[in-house]
Amino acid sequence: MKIHNFCAGPSILPTKVMDQASKAVKELDKSGLSLIEISHRSKVFVEIMEEACKLALELTKLKDKGYKALFLQGGASQQFIMSAYNLLKNKAGFINTGTWSTKAMKEAKLLGEVIEIASSKEANFNYIPKGYNIPSDLDYLHLTTNNTIFGTQLKDIPSTQVPLVADMSSDIFSRNFDYSKFDLFYAGAQKNMGPAGTTLVILKENIFGKVSRVIPSILDYSIHAKSGSMFNTPPVFAVYTSLLTLRWIKSQGGIDSIGVKNATKSKYLYDEIDRNSKFIGFAAEKDRSEMNATFNLVDPALTESFDLLCESAGISGLKGHRSVGGYRASMYNALPIESVKVLISCMQNLEKKY
Ligand SMILES: *Cc1c(COP(=O)(O)O)cnc(C)c1O
Repeated sequence: MKIHNFCAGPSILPTKVMDQASKAVKELDKSGLSLIEISHRSKVFVEIMEEACKLALELTKLKDKGYKALFLQGGASQQFIMSAYNLLKNKAGFINTGTWSTKAMKEAKLLGEVIEIASSKEANFNYIPKGYNIPSDLDYLHLTTNNTIFGTQLKDIPSTQVPLVADMSSDIFSRNFDYSKFDLFYAGAQKNMGPAGTTLVILKENIFGKVSRVIPSILDYSIHAKSGSMFNTPPVFAVYTSLLTLRWIKSQGGIDSIGVKNATKSKYLYDEIDRNSKFIGFAAEKDRSEMNATFNLVDPALTESFDLLCESAGISGLKGHRSVGGYRASMYNALPIESVKVLISCMQNLEKKY
């Protein structure tokens, strides 16, 4: 049976990427060697890393605009402390839109003053705060562009002179977005790009060297930049698979055309959530995420019946995060629209039956 993978992360990758990645584990490009047993300093792998960095900048339309792309380790979670290490002199501002922003704030507090500029905690993060004032003396303002757990997404980038830093783990490469408004953004690969194990960081080259603290080498962006993301052994499989996904995105017409598909997929599902008398959406309508749709049953007594319907249709990974409950349908780039249609028909079957 075909499985429809709605998992929030690690998550679905394009079939073509999975085929190419698994072949490369056996033998990389007729080299006689496996991707995971060659030197990361070999010409073939250095080229893989260079192409991945180049494509990441090209797809975000930041090529030749003074940005660098790095493939690092430690997940998005390591970026919480690493961004503060490299950028936080006195104080940083945060828009607290969920679990991940809260964690990022906790880490930054180890190195300086942290100001919560706005928060939606009082409503269990079901909306994105708006209309706040941004003090001009912040070293940077940190945003989470998509809140994977709560299913909200930032639609408008706040306008400010303060440098913007963003966690884009769950919506990078998913929509037409002005990436040049950010000084630094990062994304763990395992939501929309590849397997867990690498984190893409894109940053302006002129943000290095502004803090006076001693930075441990492994946490120093300038050291990683100078060594072409090879300060230490990079996670070769995760980087190569990410490159395959970036090539796939390009072959689909880039972010603009992927963005149109994602908008269509999520509109289908949200329309059904709103139409269907058995379901209710969790996130505020105007802040709804195109990547992760969170919704609940109006009558929780139908949980078992709905779960059975989904299971027999091959739907996987729909369970909501424990802090929200209910359901979460993650519709990352690689999820085909057919999967969304299968989910919708399960929702309609539930309504017809009960
Ligand atoms: C998954 C996720 C993280 C955590 O990523 P790790 O790679 O596990 O550290 C951070 N931020 C967001 C928005 C996420 O979706």
